Amino acid sequence: MSHLENASVAIIGGGIGGLAAALAFSHFGAVVTVYEQADALTEAGAGIQITPNGGRVLAALGLSGQLDAFSLRAQAVQPRDGLTGRVIARFDLGAQMPPYRFFHRAALIDMLADGCRQAGVTVHLGARVAQVTRDGAVVTQNGSERHDLVVGADGLHSVARGVLNPQGAPFFTGQVAWRGTINAPDMPPEANIWMAPGKHVVTYPLKDGLLNVVAVQERTDWAAEGWHHADTPDNLQAAFADTCADLQKLIAQVQSPKLWGLFRHPVADCWHRDRLTILGDAAHPTLPFLAQGANLALEDAWTLAAACADAPLTQALPIYQSKRAPRVTRAINTANANAKNYHLDGLPRRIAHAGLRTLGTLAPDAFLKRLSWLYDHDVTAS
Ligand SMILES: Cc1cc2nc3c(=O)[nH]c(=O)nc-3n(C[C@H](O)[C@H](O)[C@H](O)COP(=O)(O)OP(=O)(O)OC[C@H]3O[C@@H](n4cnc5c(N)ncnc54)[C@H](O)[C@@H]3O)c2cc1C
Repeated sequence: MSHLENASVAIIGGGIGGLAAALAFSHFGAVVTVYEQADALTEAGAGIQITPNGGRVLAALGLSGQLDAFSLRAQAVQPRDGLTGRVIARFDLGAQMPPYRFFHRAALIDMLADGCRQAGVTVHLGARVAQVTRDGAVVTQNGSERHDLVVGADGLHSVARGVLNPQGAPFFTGQVAWRGTINAPDMPPEANIWMAPGKHVVTYPLKDGLLNVVAVQERTDWAAEGWHHADTPDNLQAAFADTCADLQKLIAQVQSPKLWGLFRHPVADCWHRDRLTILGDAAHPTLPFLAQGANLALEDAWTLAAACADAPLTQALPIYQSKRAPRVTRAINTANANAKNYHLDGLPRRIAHAGLRTLGTLAPDAFLKRLSWLYDHDVTAS
């Protein structure tokens, strides 16, 4: 029998990690309440890559029938020289592995939110959690409610993380990202990574003829984090004025770029105490250069709920952290390494591109094999 049967579980945050956790706990028999500070469950107008490891969780949450309607199946990843536009290598994602998907963020949230509604999850909107305690109290402007378990899925500035790990504030990683979408119908379902010294751009198509554009630049000066910092197209274009004409043409179409400073914390030392735990960006924010932040949040959500179904909290929560911490640390270290590799200059850049070209020609499977620890992992199987 599930230890979660009729247990009251509160989830702070209705982002990808929070809604997935709500569905997972509901799947294992809990009575779930989500507290979301925003007035609506939605995400900003940009894309997100859901890799096979995250896709398996969506399928286990009962959403497999909707994945094709809500996303595009990726066929390849192409590293390119951002200064010349030349394709350096092409790594096939299509035939060899379970689907790797390109979602519009809003579509992914809609799909999860719809699943929550059908599962009977209670969602409180406009409900900012001001305080949370280790013994299961959640305090909002409407008062205090007590739960058997509280899950902080409240992102980078998590109140729950602060209770479990009182020291430390998010730090600026020295990278900023402009994000936007442009109209570009009939683009092949491929991700392109345009690499140039100190900067790179990732483009991939979404449903409805949109192309998602994420343009990253190394910077010493600080830029704020969040979706609300509009920048001018001129600033974006100036930052990429030294790149090839094809890329500049794409960038010139981004009308209302949003500028993000990329911030993160170290992986939290403490993920749980008593009746309180954390997941996703609240526990381990990552640079986005391996496209794993949301995928790891999905994996956390399933692993946490399954552990709590199998054992009492005193055993389940330590099992959850011990299963997840080494894997998320490895993913974060790989994303950090990508940040360096994408932005090389001079001789190291020429050597790295030659290596990629050789890999793409002689052993195109090697690229995916190197990431099999990531993509082949199935948290729903154990
Ligand atoms: C440029 C960029 C590109 C990315 N691309 C990818 C990608 O392709 N693939 C991928 O897997 N990941 C990607 N990521 C990372 C991914 O977006 C995040 O890791 C993921 O969204 C984290 O989800 P989360 O649910 O943990 O947190 P969040 O998405 O931050 O959600 C937290 C939620 O909690 C709510 N909240 C916060 N505080 C409170 C409070 N006190 N009370 C109530 N509600 C609260 C917030 O309103 C929000 O809804 C990218 C990130 C960036 C910056």
